[in-house]
Amino acid sequence: MEEKIIKREITYSDEHLKDFYMKVDDTFATINTTTPYLSWDEYFANIAMLAALRSKDENTKVGAAIVSSSHKLLGMGYNGLPSGIDESQFPTAREGKDISETKYCYTIHAEQNALCNTTVFDLTGSSIYVTLFPCCYCASILIQRGIKEVIYLSDKHHNDPEYIASRKLFDAAGVVTRQYDGRIFCVV
Ligand code: ZN
Repeated sequence: MEEKIIKREITYSDEHLKDFYMKVDDTFATINTTTPYLSWDEYFANIAMLAALRSKDENTKVGAAIVSSSHKLLGMGYNGLPSGIDESQFPTAREGKDISETKYCYTIHAEQNALCNTTVFDLTGSSIYVTLFPCCYCASILIQRGIKEVIYLSDKHHNDPEYIASRKLFDAAGVVTRQYDGRIFCVV
């Protein structure tokens, strides 16, 4: 079969982006040699991953993408503080004298931000792609908004109480959860 991968001409002005463009080309080449385009799963899982890269959290970057049953992107989000506040005035630590001195009191989770950012109100029957399995607080809100499927990448908190509770909530509400096992194309 004829080789169809086209390498860009790198000009002097974008020499500093050479590594980036080479990675982009490698990514395209990888896709071209396996499938000619991304599956819906790959498309939205990678969008969630891209959203995670916007997070300023130094320890845990999480991204989420809400998708309709007809494969329309309805909202995206990542974990972070509420907008419009001076972030330097708030803690970023995971531990403190009490919880008000930790980031946990002030951080909006990726799922919550994705819900805040939706372009439509009715999310009944939609799915959410998340880079980390949702906590129980997000799970209850996702259920309440009618999300019917959760596709997650990492499940690193599987045995923690807040995540055991999540699965209990999802199971009770008939929300399907499954781990994404496709490809991730991050150009960083
Ligand atoms: Zn959460």
